[in-house]
Amino acid sequence: ALKLNPMISKMEESYTVAIFSKVSNMKSRGEKVNGALCVGQPDFPPPPEAIKATAEAAVQGLTSYTAVTGTLELRQAISEYLQKYKQVTYSTDEILVACGGKQVIYQAMMALCQEGDEVIVPAPYWTSYPDIVKLSGASPVIMETLASSGYAIDATKLAATITPKTRMLIVCNPSNPTGCAMSKQELEAIAEVLRRPENQHVLVLSDEIYERICYDGLEHASFATLKDMWSRTLTINGFSKAFSMTGYRLGYLAAQKDIVKAVSKLQSQITSCASSIGQHAGIAALKCDMSYIDARVVELQEKRDLAMSLLAKISDVQCPKPSGAFYLFPDISAYFGRRTPDEETIEDGVQLCLYLLQKYQVALVPGIAFGNPKCLRLSYAATKENITETRQDTALKKAYLR
Ligand code: PLP
Repeated sequence: ALKLNPMISKMEESYTVAIFSKVSNMKSRGEKVNGALCVGQPDFPPPPEAIKATAEAAVQGLTSYTAVTGTLELRQAISEYLQKYKQVTYSTDEILVACGGKQVIYQAMMALCQEGDEVIVPAPYWTSYPDIVKLSGASPVIMETLASSGYAIDATKLAATITPKTRMLIVCNPSNPTGCAMSKQELEAIAEVLRRPENQHVLVLSDEIYERICYDGLEHASFATLKDMWSRTLTINGFSKAFSMTGYRLGYLAAQKDIVKAVSKLQSQITSCASSIGQHAGIAALKCDMSYIDARVVELQEKRDLAMSLLAKISDVQCPKPSGAFYLFPDISAYFGRRTPDEETIEDGVQLCLYLLQKYQVALVPGIAFGNPKCLRLSYAATKENITETRQDTALKKAYLR
């Protein structure tokens, strides 16, 4: 057998990628599949300013390596953005630009965590966190959050989960997959626990990649703005979600200098720097007319309401109304153990997702990928047609009428 690094065998296979490749296979066989609801990717184009800057960068010859940490111009734009929109102060040497939020989270974990450390990962979690933690040698400690409290982190539970070994807490706000957007007050309750003398050793990785995508007037607060939290927080953000620039592979970390320096050192040996063309486009994105993004967020809120109303028509499905990101994470476990018209018994979420894909050509992701096997994830950052055409409501309704 092929000799592999044991690190690889410790990793889970990505369910999201597995579903996605099934969808691609079906498409290549000429089958019509609705694959829009299974990916974490908005369906609108990037801001026009960013597209224009992409072309400009190539023509103007901005095609060389940049500084490892990113161009000064982009770091300046990020610094200004964080000041203006998030009221948080980071100088240009407290910012590291990387090839996406995912990569910079990985690098931060590798630089700061090691064997013997614990990293608290609230569940349901973004599918990559536990594996990224494991790659660093640290152990993910899964801390459940409840649908009944909209999947917000419970401060009392957090206090009970922290041990002397806890190195880091991951806060994904708004959350993929639940869409839970915690208010400043809810974050304040977390900060209060971290301020206690016995919890001074805990860092926070605050993944704020969905910060611009909040609904119902909710004002997103950056964790670093909370009292005493700045120096202990690693703020993660990027261009994939609100700016819809997933393929540009551009994200960043903002944190105290020593952290940025260590994470940059690692990056210098991994990728050297993010794409120079992408970085040029990133500057334009941060300085774009934000009314473009605001309008997309209004549309997303309408799509959330549409998807919620369709889901409400299906009996025995529970789903708290999310106030951020672009996912619904309904509990569909009432359907486990029921039989389909073809006498197939659906035992769990993975089987249900496969059934929906094969029978109704709708791709969704089983909740087990996010640490909650009772649920499945649906992205509504799709066209309204994709949402309504979804026959998953009919699938659940009709398939189980017996
Ligand atoms: N963090 C969360 C919660 C995400 O959902 C994603 C993308 O799906 C990322 C980070 C990484 O995004 P990217 O690497 O495209 O910047």
